[in-house]
Amino acid sequence: MAVVAGAAVSITLLEYMAREVTRIDHGVRTRAASAGAAALLTRLTETHADYARWDEAYLALYGELDQDFIQSNLALTTGLGNLYDFAMLLDEGHGEAFAFRGGLPLPTGSADAMRGPLERLIAGVAAEPDYSNAAGFVAAPAGIYAVAVGPVVPVGLPMPESERFLVIGKALDQGVIARLADETVLSGLRLLPPGAANPIAVPLVDPLGTEVARLAWTQPDPGHVALAKVWPVTVVSIGLLALLIGYLVSSALRSLREAAEGEQQARVSADLDPLSGLANRRAFRDRLDEAVARADGSLHTVAVAYVDLDGFKEVNDTQGHETGDRLICVVAASFQSIADGRGFLARVGGDEFALLFEGPDAAAEASKAARRILDHLSRPLALVGHVANVGASIGISVLDDRTLSGEELLRRADVAMYMAKENGRHRLSVYRRTMDAEKRERAAIAADLRAALVAGRLEVVYQPIADSATHEIIGAEALIRWSRPGYGEMAPDHFIPIAEASGLIGELGTYVLRRACADAGRWKDVFVSVNVSPAQFRDGRFGTLVATIIAETGLDPRRLALEVTETYLINYPEEARRAIDGMRALGIAVALDDFGTGYSSLSYLRQFTFDGLKLDRHMVEEMSESEGGLRFVEATIAMASALRLSVTAEGVETAEQAAVLHRAGCQRLQGYLFSQALSANEMRRLHGDTGPIALSA
Ligand code: C2E
Ligand code: CA
Ligand code: CA
Repeated sequence: MAVVAGAAVSITLLEYMAREVTRIDHGVRTRAASAGAAALLTRLTETHADYARWDEAYLALYGELDQDFIQSNLALTTGLGNLYDFAMLLDEGHGEAFAFRGGLPLPTGSADAMRGPLERLIAGVAAEPDYSNAAGFVAAPAGIYAVAVGPVVPVGLPMPESERFLVIGKALDQGVIARLADETVLSGLRLLPPGAANPIAVPLVDPLGTEVARLAWTQPDPGHVALAKVWPVTVVSIGLLALLIGYLVSSALRSLREAAEGEQQARVSADLDPLSGLANRRAFRDRLDEAVARADGSLHTVAVAYVDLDGFKEVNDTQGHETGDRLICVVAASFQSIADGRGFLARVGGDEFALLFEGPDAAAEASKAARRILDHLSRPLALVGHVANVGASIGISVLDDRTLSGEELLRRADVAMYMAKENGRHRLSVYRRTMDAEKRERAAIAADLRAALVAGRLEVVYQPIADSATHEIIGAEALIRWSRPGYGEMAPDHFIPIAEASGLIGELGTYVLRRACADAGRWKDVFVSVNVSPAQFRDGRFGTLVATIIAETGLDPRRLALEVTETYLINYPEEARRAIDGMRALGIAVALDDFGTGYSSLSYLRQFTFDGLKLDRHMVEEMSESEGGLRFVEATIAMASALRLSVTAEGVETAEQAAVLHRAGCQRLQGYLFSQALSANEMRRLHGDTGPIALSA
């Protein structure tokens, strides 16, 4: 009798815990789904601002309509469908001036079904004195759409007396839902009709408050998955516990049950991180110690993944703590889905998470989860009102020694995480015993690099850039070269990250910039393009430094170009805009480097006054390999030209690539087909006094 009652209590408690875990998991997923839907609208309003707050749009869309502009901007984009697939202009009386969907004009009145909700959105924005826009979900005969609406207004010209409204829309088709599923890591994400009887869903309502659809997903049951795992152990413990209970307090069962329940509940909250709803560091340490004890000397059955977010501090500093908190919640939710009941997830620090895996596949599961986390964070995250970009550095340690404690396992995962960060962030590294030595090695490289800088032993070489039509050399990119004493030539991809991590990059960058400007001063009509690391660009004194070097070397600033990478822009849009504008004011061109590797949205590029972009060499490679790669390159070049950005293709190795790129409208080519990097002397010999010549290619 006592045994049965004791077992019943324990089962009840475990069942309660399992349900609680699943309930928390459902809560996080619901938040992720709502945040994902909201971010979809935010992105659309950002795109709207790009197109509607624009002098050229203003000139083209008021008075007599400029059909060329409409065709090559609005209609073309609805055809490409990546930003929006529906565009409509409403005139001063809100009459339909034109509408396009999928690149084709729509007959007047086709969008009448969404008129009511649209008017409600317009009423909200029309009251605002300056530009503002609004977005919502609407039902149209063609399906459910996310739409954004706002007036078309100039930036540098006087405001119109009466406004015209641009409406853009994106169908919530399979592609959009798939992307949302990726961003939120919700599996089985799908749209259901309004009112569908599915409790695992969030409703999408239009601006009039009418539900137009629901966003549903497949809710796993992590609590019971975990419960099933501990079941064998539990059965034995239950037996013992129940016996004990039976012996001691068979008469006081009822009060004991209450006490036990209360204690468990208290434990649940002491072990929970209130912000994310995940387990906290303390709970993680307990679980880890238990796991190590359970492993009882059998190796490779416990693995820890230590995850540290890259760029979280920047989000927190630039977008505020509230956004930072939201980011933690969204990230926690997605990690939870990734762990999916197989790993134990905890938030162990401000922007640090840890995952614990047990069983014969522990190591494999840990690295699989880590890769999914990296993959997930490689896309911008959907936050309400914001899109944030963070990455993660992940370290993994495995129980591979009988003497390891839980504490040592966690320390090793932390060391491995540190190495991942040192190696350039947003990557995974597995703890190796050699890592301590590696840490020392990196410190030695940094010391040697510092010495080389002081002694002026770093070389700068120049890789020519050709005009795609004439194959004449019109410029060159400065690339650093270092021969480390006793080791030989070391690739910049290897030591630049060490310079960045050790704070040497500022000095190194200044060195290259000064050398490049001095060398280019002796060339004739050929520009020089210098790579600038994010840390240099971020330094408030960078503008002054560049101006000083220009003055010192006497180089015409119009013959200097800078190359910056995307990560910086995303994390610090305001600072980046200011820095770029500052350079432009000096007459220096600024190009976006490595385009196509990260989050490359051209509409987003319009926020910055770039002169050009450099198509990453992997895109050029892919262009030759797949139809999709070619289309991406073609569309990029077409849209870049619409934004009046010059395009330089990197890594051009074959005559065929050069021909295809030229046909697609790419103006500049760089790669081994034309030339490897040349020394300053060779550059001077070829482009010094003789003027531009064509290399054989
Ligand atoms: P990046 O800016 O993408 O530079 C182009 C890289 O592609 C160079 O490698 C160049 O040698 C290589 N490359 C050029 N043509 C071809 C080709 O046809 N095929 C292939 N496969 N590769 C080609 P490098 O010199 O090893 O530089 C690597 C990276 O190091 C650069 O990538 C840049 O991000 C960084 N870097 C180099 N010099 C500097 C510098 O002075 N400052 C900073 N901050 N970074 C630098
Ligand atoms: Ca570059
Ligand atoms: Ca590049």
